[in-house]
Parts: sequence; structure tokens; C-alpha cells
Amino acid sequence: MLVVKSGMSTHEVRFSHAALADWSFPVFDVVGKNAGPRLAVIAGVHVNETSSIEAAIRLQRAFDPETLKGRVSIMPVVNLPAVPHRSQYVCPLDQKNINFSFPGKADGTFSEAIAHALLDEWAADADCLIDMHGGDLCENVSHFTVCQTIGDEGFDAHNMALACCFDSELIVRLDPSHLKAPGRSCTGRATRGQHAAFSEAGRIGLIEEANVDFHFEGVLRVAKYLGMIESAPPPRREPQIVERYLWLEAPVDGFYRYRVEAGQRVSAGTVLAIAENTFGQVIGEVVAPESGYVLWTITHAFVVGGTHIMGLGVPA
Ligand SMILES: [Zn+2]
Repeated sequence: MLVVKSGMSTHEVRFSHAALADWSFPVFDVVGKNAGPRLAVIAGVHVNETSSIEAAIRLQRAFDPETLKGRVSIMPVVNLPAVPHRSQYVCPLDQKNINFSFPGKADGTFSEAIAHALLDEWAADADCLIDMHGGDLCENVSHFTVCQTIGDEGFDAHNMALACCFDSELIVRLDPSHLKAPGRSCTGRATRGQHAAFSEAGRIGLIEEANVDFHFEGVLRVAKYLGMIESAPPPRREPQIVERYLWLEAPVDGFYRYRVEAGQRVSAGTVLAIAENTFGQVIGEVVAPESGYVLWTITHAFVVGGTHIMGLGVPA
């Protein structure tokens, strides 16, 4: 077992995976004077989701080793190769989305290898892994959390309690069928019987206080829930639970006018966006296939047909 002195420290983490050999990942650790759980926090799987990265940076000064019970480890930027390119969604080395690569592969490409390294090494002994996201360059994201269930009452209740630590408009509760395919870090952790929380808030690459606070305060509430700190700001919202995450596609190449906002409730049949050509003629529309809540929308007017334009959360 690793024995570390109480206090705050920065270090560079390296992994033995072949695809990660050239990279070292900056990590900030706060070790409390008293024993307790380990909380691991990551951001920057998507490097333009800067409100969540800013929250990870601020969290480095949020824990006092004198009073903290246990250890908080924070990795503010996972997708280091994406930083100079401001890559949207993917890692530029393999064009894969780390966010849907968990639990990963030790001998895989960068995205699969870092997913594996995080779950199998860096956060392997963490009592909770929190992965913070939200608002790539062309996205507006509602305040939501994702909760992976496995069909075990106790495990699922604990993961839901972690999700409820964030002041969410919506909680997406994923059923155990998601465990069969590579997915988010919370899904990868669940395949190992380990707990996780996954937060989304932000838009168009901006650092905005309300979105930073959503992540920052949520992590503090998780730390309080785990018994690591004494107090955290209380949540203000009662979240709506949704069971299914629908990815809506743009029907045609077009210049889109959006009719709804992230977080908005919509009924089946509601027109969510209109596609026009550059003569201003309507050439298509995006319609809600079911009643639900808008998890996020693309914000840019030009959208390629067949690509995702909106996420819709559908209640049970
Ligand atoms: Zn993201």
C-alpha cells in the first residue's frame, strides 16, 4: 500500500502502456491528516469543455489537509494530445473519443490505453471517480449527471446518491445494458463494481461561473457524502430522472435555426430545429420523437446531415 505524507503535492503521472509512453499527466494530490476514502477527479477528456477544467483547477485549493479525511487526486487534463489542436470530441492521435472508450484496453491506441490506465492504475483504489464534462466548441449542455446502474440495489443507490450530489436539472440513469459496450468512465467503473459520478455543464468552450460552480460544488458534496469533509453548499434543485439518452441526427446538410434550449422540456412532435438552405428555404426539420428533456444542443448553424444535433433525455 502506498504511504503518503499529509499535505498538498503536484506530480507528473506516467503509465507503462505503449501508447502512453511519451506522455506524463499533471496531477494534484491532497492527502488529509486523517485516514479516509480516496476521491479521484478528472476533467479534460474533452479539452474545450473549459468550465469543467477550471473547476478541476480550483478544486486543487478547496481541500485543507489539516481537516480532510482521506485523499483527493485531481487530473485536470486527460486528453493531453488534444490541447494544441483544440480537438473537439476526439483524441487527434487516433481520432477516437476517450469518453466512449472505457474500460479501455492496455494494448490499445491512446484513447483506449488512457481509459485503461485511469481505471486499472491511477483510480483503481479510488472509492469514487468523478469525470467532469460539458460544452465543446459547438455545444450548449444542460446541467446534468450520468448514473450507471448494474442491477444491484445497494450499488445503484450509492451511484444515484453520488449523482444527486450535483445540482442537476437532469440525471440520466443508464440501465445495465450499457455495461456490454465501451462507454463513459462511470460505465467502465461499473463493469468493475466500482463507483463513479459523471457531470456535464458548459457551453461553446467558455469558462462561465454558473457552470464552473456546478462541477466544483458537486465535487465538494461528493466529498462530504463520502465523509471526507464536514460541510458543502446544499443543492438547490430537485433533478428530473431520465432513463434513456436519445441521440438525434440532423436530417440534411443545412443552416439550422434552433427552437429549444438545453434543459427544456419538450413534447413528442415538437419541432426542435429547422434546416434551411442558404436561400432561406426550409429543407428539413428535427422533431422530438418522444417527450423528454433537451440534454444538449449543437449551437452552430451549419450542421452536416447524419451527424448528432441534439441529445434528448426520456423519462421512464
Ligand atoms: Zn465531454
